[in-house]
Amino acid sequence: MTKISGETTVRNQGSPINKTYQLFIDGQWVDALSGKTFKSYNPATGELNAVVAEAGTEDVDLAVKAARKAFESGPWATMSPSDRGRLLNKVAQALWSKVDFLAEVETRDNGLPINETKHIAIPGTIDVLEFYAGLANKVQGETLSSPQDRLNYTLKEPLGVIGAIIPWNFPLMLTMWKLAPALATGNTIVIKPAEETPISTLELVKIFQEAGIPDGVINVVPGYGKVAGDALANHADVDKVAFTGSTDTGRIIMQAAGKNLKPVSLELGGKSPNIVFDDANVENAVNGSLFGIYFGQGQVCASGTRLFVQEGIYDEFMEKFVEKAKKIRVGNPSDEATQMGPQVSLKQLERIEKYVEIGIKEGAELLTGGTRTTDVGEGHFFTPTIFGNVTNDMTIAREEIFGPVLSVIKFKDEADVLEKANDTIYGLAAGVWTENLKRGHRMAKKLKAGTVYINTFSMLDSVAPFGGTKQSGFGRELGMQALDMFTETKHVWVDLNEEHF
Ligand code: NAD
Repeated sequence: MTKISGETTVRNQGSPINKTYQLFIDGQWVDALSGKTFKSYNPATGELNAVVAEAGTEDVDLAVKAARKAFESGPWATMSPSDRGRLLNKVAQALWSKVDFLAEVETRDNGLPINETKHIAIPGTIDVLEFYAGLANKVQGETLSSPQDRLNYTLKEPLGVIGAIIPWNFPLMLTMWKLAPALATGNTIVIKPAEETPISTLELVKIFQEAGIPDGVINVVPGYGKVAGDALANHADVDKVAFTGSTDTGRIIMQAAGKNLKPVSLELGGKSPNIVFDDANVENAVNGSLFGIYFGQGQVCASGTRLFVQEGIYDEFMEKFVEKAKKIRVGNPSDEATQMGPQVSLKQLERIEKYVEIGIKEGAELLTGGTRTTDVGEGHFFTPTIFGNVTNDMTIAREEIFGPVLSVIKFKDEADVLEKANDTIYGLAAGVWTENLKRGHRMAKKLKAGTVYINTFSMLDSVAPFGGTKQSGFGRELGMQALDMFTETKHVWVDLNEEHF
């Protein structure tokens, strides 16, 4: 039996997580004005992790006011870009000294295996902060070509108050993707973490606070999407909303931003194709594709959820792939040996089960998995699942499941797979496995996706822009590109004539 919400007592003994958390507004830890709280559970055990203050519309308003005040005046508004960079680097140093702590918090909050939080998610989060800390004093405008009696130049200015709305799948990393470039460029921010995973973000801001970030620069308002998220997305004094989450919510965010005519960036869902040609290095393709689908329990927006395998190697590839998938160790995410932890919530578990049922009903062949497992504990554990004989028109090949469920589709040749791979409403990532580099690059040009991987999958680097096309959203996080998302270009026209008019 998977237990979830029955727990009312915080039982987090031995855990670094506090029993209660407040909102963080204007440098102060405060209760919600309504006094409301909500509960945050450990998805591996169903135990209550903590009771968290629940932000309402008025709390979000206070947070936006604090962010506005910190943007317009005070130490942050006058801090030089170099000093901003130094401060962010100081936070990064503090974070490096707390990797184990943050990894444990994230694992208990979200269910990601400790191996992944400790070695991938947390170091990756700090790397992003260091990358933008280094760029803080390198954001610059340009002098434009102009006649002798004129001077035209541009200034790159911060936008102001950023509203950041974050999903539950990689809470700290996806927060930092927005926080680091926003602060490096001089903005202030109000963060609304996902209701499933508010804790690690609250621990993160404690570390910013200890390092000396001025009051009001970062504000965190945990709470529900339809209340706190909605208030932030609709707030008239927020200058930009940076959102990561589902495509359906992205549509709502965009409508809100449209009402206030505010810019938005949307990092949304995916149904990414991962293509294995018959000239691929099979061993690498098997291992890389397993990572591409099962990393993060399949709760990764860019996951290679549609695996296209060329006819010639289909049988050999699938035999090896299924055999290895069966050996993935699902278990307690706090155990170093665990390769796949629990899904984040019972709601997600039920959603995955529904798609497995649909897959079977529509005629796909269940090659392995497809069920919950309680062998490893009370949490929301699901087995690595593979459907063969999938066609690209089946529901499981079209809709984002956001769990460890792979749809495998056979293909003939390049033209055939390109047509199928691009036949989706999404366009986040794509992968190509081939030893023929010309083919790899040819495919990279033709695949409609924000990122194309050749002979690898699901890799991220702070230097490399990440984002979607089509209904996977728009805007690019990471890389130099993210600096543009948080700055405005101002043009200055100077007439140098003593007399003109
Ligand atoms: P979600 O859209 O349900 O929630 C995301 C955030 O939006 C949460 O903080 C939630 O509280 C908030 N929210 C919900 N309704 C809202 C509303 N009406 N107004 C304002 N805010 C609202 O998504 P999720 O289930 O938390 O996350 C999974 C989704 O995120 C998947 O679709 C996944 O593909 C996507 N995702 C995308 C990327 C990317 O970079 N493209 C990365 C990670 C996750």
